[in-house]
Amino acid sequence: MHIHKNFNTLKSFAILLFPTVLSPNILATPIGDTIENEVHSKIINKPVPINNANSEFTSLQSDVKDTLLIDNTIKHPDIAQFLSPYNYEYKIKKGDNLGLIFEKFHLRYSDLMRLMESDLNFLSLDTIMPGNVIKIWKTKKSNKLLRLELKLNLSDTVSYTLNGSSYDYNTYSDPGTWKESRIKGKVIRTLSGSAKKVGLSNSEIAQMTALLQNKINFSKELKKGDQFEIIRKTQYINGKKTRNHEVEMVKIQNKGKTYSAILHTDGQFYDGDGKSLEQAFNRRPVSKRFRISSSFNPNRLHPVTKRISPHNGTDFAVPSGTPIASVGDGIVILTRKHPYAGNYVVIKHNNTYKTRYLHMSKILVKKGQKITRGQKIGLSGSTGRVTGPHLHFEMLIKDKAVNAMTTSIPSGTPVPPLEMKSFIENKKRLDAI
Ligand SMILES: [Zn+2]
Repeated sequence: MHIHKNFNTLKSFAILLFPTVLSPNILATPIGDTIENEVHSKIINKPVPINNANSEFTSLQSDVKDTLLIDNTIKHPDIAQFLSPYNYEYKIKKGDNLGLIFEKFHLRYSDLMRLMESDLNFLSLDTIMPGNVIKIWKTKKSNKLLRLELKLNLSDTVSYTLNGSSYDYNTYSDPGTWKESRIKGKVIRTLSGSAKKVGLSNSEIAQMTALLQNKINFSKELKKGDQFEIIRKTQYINGKKTRNHEVEMVKIQNKGKTYSAILHTDGQFYDGDGKSLEQAFNRRPVSKRFRISSSFNPNRLHPVTKRISPHNGTDFAVPSGTPIASVGDGIVILTRKHPYAGNYVVIKHNNTYKTRYLHMSKILVKKGQKITRGQKIGLSGSTGRVTGPHLHFEMLIKDKAVNAMTTSIPSGTPVPPLEMKSFIENKKRLDAI
């Protein structure tokens, strides 16, 4: 009880210090309003079907287990020292938020702030969904958080381990095994109705039409009897399907012609001749006249702690109120208020690329909104923990931060001549599946 009181004292104190911290987002917003995999679908604004989100975790108990946590799933050398009867496993429920979860386990508010500070470069805590499993290791008397592990899905886990006064961030992925399958169908009334019948998801249908939108007029030209197919790659772990899957090829037969989209090793789709089917990206979200004040640096040393503290984005020196433009077409999958990242927006461009825009003074878009390249999504500012106004811009390829100023971005150019041979070989391989 004593600790609980302390938490509340800290919380009220923190409201004074960080008015944004406990207001609408992060700590107070219920978890569970994002379905990453269905992001292209029209149902984005509907509530998450909790049973769906939970389907992968049916074997886990939903309530707090106040018993010894024995972890058979992941073996890390640093885990053993934390095993004690005061560790917990908890499955996130709809309506939960990190503040509530910390309160439930009598954890300290100051540790929550520290945890979020450590998460600033990754923002994994903001992707928590119902059904995710959190494991907590804490000290018996003082309820100090020693380690928090978050299982995002069957294959991906992130962990935060106390190291001095901050938490070290780590990710663990089980590569599992991938199986490829071909799913075929014929248009009976509508493409989406017929595609759903053979088992394609909303996001796969959206992807199929987005890729071939310049080749086929889907509202007028697609006729009864036209054929469609995809090759889908699905991840399995211990014989169970994970949430991870990827479309490798799309084909539609329309008016006697076959149109295809083939995924290349660069994560981009090309037609059968190797011509790009991707909408081009801009490299910068702000005008060229603004200088870069801090570059992407995965090995940046923290000036005080001397520990590696990656800078996973590019900072642009922009005065407050500067318009920020999305670098490509996409869908807003997250808008948040974060005590350290400030007001930020995440845009999913396709299954490979995402971008994040931090420290905004104003967010001008809503989750689920479709965005076109160059569209204004917000105004720059100095929200979160910053020394002055700037835009921190991140590009993620398959959820890994890359240097947006140098990485290969969709530019509408064909498969490079040197890669053409492997592209054709892969196309033949997919055709034969
Ligand atoms: Zn930055």
